[in-house]
Amino acid sequence: MLIDFHTHHHRSSLNLINVQVLHVSAETRSQALPNICSLGLHPWFMESSWQDAWHNLEELSQLPQVIAIGECGLDRNCKLPIALQTIIFQKQIQLAESLQKPLVVHCVKAFSELIALKKQAKPMMPWVIHGFHKKASVYQLLLEHGFYFSFGAAILQDQAFVADAIATIPTSRFLLETDDRQDLQIEQIYERAAQLRQISVNSLEIELLETYGKLTGN
Ligand SMILES: [Zn+2]
Repeated sequence: MLIDFHTHHHRSSLNLINVQVLHVSAETRSQALPNICSLGLHPWFMESSWQDAWHNLEELSQLPQVIAIGECGLDRNCKLPIALQTIIFQKQIQLAESLQKPLVVHCVKAFSELIALKKQAKPMMPWVIHGFHKKASVYQLLLEHGFYFSFGAAILQDQAFVADAIATIPTSRFLLETDDRQDLQIEQIYERAAQLRQISVNSLEIELLETYGKLTGN
């Protein structure tokens, strides 16, 4: 059984847990939700009317097929003021805690703020940094602060630091993803990760299924 922990695409296969991520708007309806999904308010798509989207998210995220909250977080490349991003992110932190679902975090150029928020919130639920591809010092700091990681396309590049990270990261602290890459299959990411960790794909599948179970209670 493979797990794509963060994908923007629908894919159905008997041996795949496809966690599809959706940005919730005021118009999103429960009928439109994929069988397994994670829901959030992404800083890129937030407008002045985000409150309506927020109320909808609060409601929809209680459904059993919603296994995580997010992606949500902080992004310094986005127009929305960081103070407002923080308020909306904190609401989702609280939502994840109250529903006991993990938080899928999108973070661009705001890792120190992210760590400060985690220290302040002292969450019981895991926070998973998705699509991590930053440098070693940031990675080490996040690992020390108890973050989880979801690795994707970046591990395919030989030069990438994350290729080293995935070779040594503790088993229980990561999952794999394809994110928005339609041309990429999760099988490719599993093969590369297994090669870097010097284990078989089958062993990796078993390990990640266990991690997924611990994170989501599924
Ligand atoms: Zn994404």
